[in-house]
This record gives sequence, structure tokens and C-alpha cells, in this order.
Amino acid sequence: MTTGNINVSVENIFPLIKKFLYSDHEIFLRELISNATDATLKLKALTDLGEAEGVEYGNPLIEVKIDKENKKLHILDQGIGMTAEEVQKYINEVAFSGAEEFLEKYKDKAKDSGIIGHFGLGFYSAFMVADKVEIITKSFKDEPAAHWTCDGSPKYTLNEADRKKRGTEIILHINEDSEEFLDNSRIEELLRKYNKFMPIPIKFGTREETFTKGEGDEASEEKKTVDNIINNPEPAWTKAPTELEEDDYKNFYRELYPMQFEEPLFHIHLNVDYPFNLTGILYFPKLTNDLNLQKDRIQLYQNQVFVTDNVEGIVPEFLTMLRGVIDSPDIPLNVSRSYLQADSNVKKISSYISRKVADKLKSLFNDNREDFEKKWNDIKIVIEYGMLSDEKFFDKAEKFALYPTVDGEFYTYSELEEKIKPAQTDKDGKLVILYASDKDAQHTYISEAKEKGYQVLLLDSPIVAHLMQKLEGSKENISFARVDSDSLDNLIKKDEEKVSKLNDEEKDSLKEMLETNIPKEKFTIQLEALDSKAAPFVITQPEFMRRMKEMSATGGGMFGMGNMPEMYNLVVNTNHDLVNQILQTKTAAKRERLIKQSLDLARLSQGLLKGEELTNFVKRSYDMIK
Ligand code: ADP
Repeated sequence: MTTGNINVSVENIFPLIKKFLYSDHEIFLRELISNATDATLKLKALTDLGEAEGVEYGNPLIEVKIDKENKKLHILDQGIGMTAEEVQKYINEVAFSGAEEFLEKYKDKAKDSGIIGHFGLGFYSAFMVADKVEIITKSFKDEPAAHWTCDGSPKYTLNEADRKKRGTEIILHINEDSEEFLDNSRIEELLRKYNKFMPIPIKFGTREETFTKGEGDEASEEKKTVDNIINNPEPAWTKAPTELEEDDYKNFYRELYPMQFEEPLFHIHLNVDYPFNLTGILYFPKLTNDLNLQKDRIQLYQNQVFVTDNVEGIVPEFLTMLRGVIDSPDIPLNVSRSYLQADSNVKKISSYISRKVADKLKSLFNDNREDFEKKWNDIKIVIEYGMLSDEKFFDKAEKFALYPTVDGEFYTYSELEEKIKPAQTDKDGKLVILYASDKDAQHTYISEAKEKGYQVLLLDSPIVAHLMQKLEGSKENISFARVDSDSLDNLIKKDEEKVSKLNDEEKDSLKEMLETNIPKEKFTIQLEALDSKAAPFVITQPEFMRRMKEMSATGGGMFGMGNMPEMYNLVVNTNHDLVNQILQTKTAAKRERLIKQSLDLARLSQGLLKGEELTNFVKRSYDMIK
């Protein structure tokens, strides 16, 4: 029997581990199963290379067993095992990472065998939940098994054991504070959380399976006890895209998010090995009214070990709305978020993903534009957000970002420009892009614009104000204007001189009449010589003010704008017969009635007439038609 002191530079490493290293005690299981997986994959690499003579790799399992009565948790593998000398070296020399040494030795050959090499404290995380830890291990080499015991102090014992089967058993004597880890459902939950897609099958107890025996009339249902295998060792993302059908992607989506019943819109298979390693599958979900948005997030794996579903900083922010998995051995397992964000590999990963998503969107658009247009409403938020937050994505999106019209036609920016240039360029050469945010509410304004031969876009996503602001800044001489932000003649000013039916004197007296009857603090009166067929009274809301308010509602815009009161203009068409009639009316009472009624009609078509004022309007209108 050997006893000794574990060679650690800090005498009190165990309390240190317990307290500071992992705030999350539950990760001990992930660490031990990672070790068991490594040990199994190492054996596979050796047998594949023909370096383990007489050893049969077989179909190794990892097993987790709970011994409630004795308060023990067992983790067993059928991997490479350790000789006593190796236990001494790998386990006792804490800072020494066996995985690292193994990789060093077989660097080139073992590259693809997927050995999880993270830093060397993994095994010791067992002491976070155990008073005492035992290792019983038998190397694949022809050497006796070893039995190592340690009670959490730097003292350990190392004996020979009589285990004959190759592999390692780790026994944790669970401490008082950690008895939750003796609970079946708790362990199963952890296994499913961290190990659902690990490459070696993990057995946790058994379960009953019904199967049909015999055929036709002879057929009968029988029950059979089978191993309860927790994981899918070959998840879709580890396969080549050519091996997968559309349905495989859909099934994998279901496997990732069992509570998700909506089909994803499309997927992106990520696969890169230079300058970093990364695989994964991202899905575009239908975002509308989705309550699981916060819950079903992108999951990050390191060689099929779950790391986190908080991918902030790794995935570009605008893509955190997607779902799926990302797996990279280059992502450190046990580090803080701020470290992750500063890591240069992680930064590269983020821009790679953004590029890849842009490429995929472009090919979807090119391959089947009709389908892409159909999905546009569901994906526009992600794309618009990407265009706002990522310059490179903005440039790429030029090719596939769509601008739908109120009539359901979709244009790319350059198509739109081509289409509207002749009619919608103003006298100063500025291209004015008209849009609506609500087809019904702005119907009057839209139909007037269409009558003039203008195109009206339907831009209704919550961040579109920001996007317009950005487009105006990045393109030459263009501006966006909502159809109800001014009279059309003012929005797209043409060179033609407008003849007014009223002379200056008449205009002055009209203005006076209007001002007597219309509250100044609510409306700014604006006399315009418009087409005699255009509406007599129109309420508009200046584009700039409204847009700034919208922008501050969704974050950004100009400081303080959100608190500005709503401002409206009242455009009065001096060429309209009704306006002329107002001017000619001699009695003040009749004039007042005409003005009030006209104003109310204008408010009504902007959706601004409400409450008592609406009631009065309706009453007054009945009186008029009596
Ligand atoms: P790491 O896995 O990062 O190297 P650990 O502290 O978790 O660090 O493990 C130290 C070493 O102990 C491993 O590299 C490996 O050589 C050895 N080891 C741990 N668990 C097992 C196991 N189940 N089978 C074989 N060797 C193991």
C-alpha cells in the first residue's frame, strides 16, 4: 500500500476548488463523464492506429449508477484505464493534464478522434460534492488494476485492486450538502442537460420497452427490459450535410427542443476547420408570437459536451434570436463570459457565423425567391436587426433584403430604386421613398399616393425607423417619408408652379377664420394650393418628429424625443371648393360648423377622433342629414 501527499503548489487546493472554481456544483458530473468519454475515445484511437495489441474496442458504454443506501454515485467506463503509475502521474499531479500529453504525443494522428482536452482540474471537481473519492481502474495494458482513495485532503492511498475488466470506475461518497445528487431524477436531468449529445452511449438504469413479437394473427405485445441510454451519440450536426435529408434537420430540431411544435423556416449547417474548428446547425424559427423565444436558445457545445445556452458574445447579437447548436473545441469550457468575449477565437467565430448566415440567406433568395418572399415577414426582424448592428452584414444584405409594397410586391433596394426613380425623384434630384406602417389606418393617404402613380412600401417592423435612418445615411440623396407625414406635393416637390385660386388677402382672412375655430396648440395650420380634387383638410405628422419618437421607443434616436408631445399639421387645400365655401360664408356660426366638421373628418381619417369628440361628431352628422 502506498500513501502520499498530492503534489499541489497550494496546500489548500480543495477548499479553493470547492469555493471558487465552480459556483455551479452540478458540473462535476459533466467533468467525470467527459473524462470517461475521453478515456473511451483514446482507446478507440489506439485500436484504430493498431497500437493496442490484442485489445477489442467493442461497443463500450459509460454507466452512471446511484447507490442510495450507501450514499454513493458510481461512474463507470470501459475506456483506456490507468496503471498505478499513471494514476500517480495523472491524478496526483493536479496541474498535469493527461489529455494534453496524449494529444501532444498523437497530435497529428489523433486530431480527428475528438478528444476533449480542457484544463486539468476536471477530475477534482468531484470533491465539490463528495467527502471521499475512489478510483478503481484497470489499464488496457497487461498490468494489475489500481485502487486510489482520497478524502479531500492532500493525502491519498494507492493500492493494487483485483478488477479484471479494462476501464475505470469512479466512486463518489456524496457529502451531506449534496444529497440531491443521489436522486434519480436529478441525475437524469443533469445527464440530459450536459450529455445529451456526447459521443459515447451513456447508460442510466434500465427501462421497459414494448415490442411486437410474431406476425399477423400470431402477433403479441411483449415487454423487454433495455438499457436506458440517455444520449444520441451521433447528433445531426456531427454529420456531413450531404448525409442529411430535410427531414433529418427537422427531426433534430425536435430533438433539441422537444416542447417546440412549430417547424423551423430553414436551417444553416455550419462546418469549418480553418482558422478554427466549428460545426453546428442554426435554425430560423418563426418569431411571431413565440413564447419560447427566451427558453429555446442556441446551445453551445464543446466536442458534443453542453457548455451553455447563453451564447451572447459568441454569436452576433442579432442572431441570438435563432435556434440550434454550435460546437467548437476552440471554445473554452470553464471560463467567464467576459473572458469569452475578449477571446480572439470567439470573435472570429462570431464574424464567421454572421458571414455564413448572410451567404445562406443570399442563396435561399437566389434559389427560390418566391419562397423567400413568403418567409420574409417571419425573418425580417433578424435581417433588419443584423443590417443595423453589423456593417458587413449590412453590405451583404443589399442583395436579399426586401422592401414590400402595400400591394404585396417585393423589391430589393436596387429594384425599388429603378422602379420609382422616374416618378418619385423631386426637383432637387432627391429620391423620396414613400411608406406606410399600417395599411388600414393610413388607407386614405395610401390611395392618394397610388392615384399619383407612386409606390408605397409597407414597413411595419418595430425597428424599421432605425433602418430607414441608416439607409438615408448610407445612400446618396434619398429620404423615406411616411405617406401621412405631409401633403404629397410637399413630400415629392416637383418643379411645376402651383396656381392658387385664392389671392394673398383671401388667404389671410381664411387663415384668421381657421385659427378662430381650431386650437393652435393641437394643430399647425398650413395653407397649400393643391389639386382641386385632393382632400380639403388633411392632418399630417411631420416625418422627423414621429420617427425620432419611434426610435426612442425602441432604443436610440435623439435624447428626450420620446417625451415630446404629438405634433400635427393641418393641411388646408386652398383650391378645394369647400375651402372656398368657408371663405364665402357670411355667418360665423355656419362657418364654424363647416370648419369643425371638416376638421373632424380629417381627424377621423387619421384615426384621431375619439371619445366625447367622436360622440359629438356623430350626433352633429345625424342632425345634418335629417
Ligand atoms: P483533464 O481531463 O483536463 O486532463 P482531469 O483532472 O479531469 O483533467 O483528469 C486528469 C487525467 O486523469 C486525465 O487527463 C486522464 O489522463 C486521467 N483520467 C481521468 N479520468 C479518467 C478515466 N475515467 N479513465 C482514464 N483516465 C482518466
